Amino acid sequence: MATIGWIGLGNMGGPMTANLVKAGHTVRGFDLSADAVAAAEAEGVTAVPGIADAVRGADVVFTMLPKGDHARAVYLGDDGVLAHAETSTLLVDSSTIDIESAAALHEAAADKGFRFVDAPVSGGISGAKAGTLTFMIGGEEGAVKDATAFIEPMARNIIPTGGATTGQAAKICNNLMLFINLASTAEGAVLADRLGLDKQVFWDIASVSSGDSWALRTWYPVPGVIDTAASNNDFAPTFTTELANKDIGLAIAAARSTDTPLEIGEHVQQLFQRLIDQGEGGKDCSMIIKLVDGTL
Ligand code: NAD
Repeated sequence: MATIGWIGLGNMGGPMTANLVKAGHTVRGFDLSADAVAAAEAEGVTAVPGIADAVRGADVVFTMLPKGDHARAVYLGDDGVLAHAETSTLLVDSSTIDIESAAALHEAAADKGFRFVDAPVSGGISGAKAGTLTFMIGGEEGAVKDATAFIEPMARNIIPTGGATTGQAAKICNNLMLFINLASTAEGAVLADRLGLDKQVFWDIASVSSGDSWALRTWYPVPGVIDTAASNNDFAPTFTTELANKDIGLAIAAARSTDTPLEIGEHVQQLFQRLIDQGEGGKDCSMIIKLVDGTL
């Protein structure tokens, strides 16, 4: 069994580490949030006071952090992963971050003699809890293969994407599609209600019809239809609007650099920005429905 260092025990990192513990690994976890650390400890993670204690002597280090700036700070800072890990330790960043930050981490890690992969995930909190995430992994072939063995207890699908940063590229494109699907699901749900359809009947139809999507089946924004929806819980976050806005912003930045028009994506980003401007950035992104039904 392996010793795993883990930085970032939030909505995703918490349940992901719980599955590694269940698989018999020792997980040394660190997070800036005391609440996140306490929740992970309750699942068997060994809490440590800093990055150095998490990474020293580990077989592998995972990071699950909000944005590129956090990942850069955690890897490249004076007290960071590269300063304290041994070069035999495999490094896996599962955060969703911009391609430039991912490239900078690959380069800095390689300069110091580390093996590093970008390995973002899809599947949401429900997939993290169930151990059924999809991992998309970019990096040198041997490192990708070695990372796969550690990832297995957390994943249903582990898909190598090619060289450095291709995991992030896949994730950014996937999430562009996800958030457009979420926005379209919110519009369909509100219109169905106003046309007099029962909410469950409409969901039952759409989920076996051509309007189906992961957003519909996992994040349906009308309360009381599916168990995994944040709408059941006053939009307590499973995926914050801030992070959704970040992800769609990553797609828009990548589109600009490749001269790709994303007219629908840009419009959905404006909707997330409106939620943030109204003080709802910390709530679940499925709250986008409130911009359609007029309750915000
Ligand atoms: P989160 O905000 O719940 O968790 C991130 C954690 O990182 C927080 O607990 C925060 O305290 C911690 N952190 C930040 N800076 C730190 C530092 N310097 N040292 C230690 N800890 C630090 O976010 P999340 O929902 O778990 O998402 C994490 C990443 O996974 C994001 O990039 C997100 O886009 C991606 N993601 C999220 C989901 C989802 O459904 N929530 C799904 C797939 C991918």
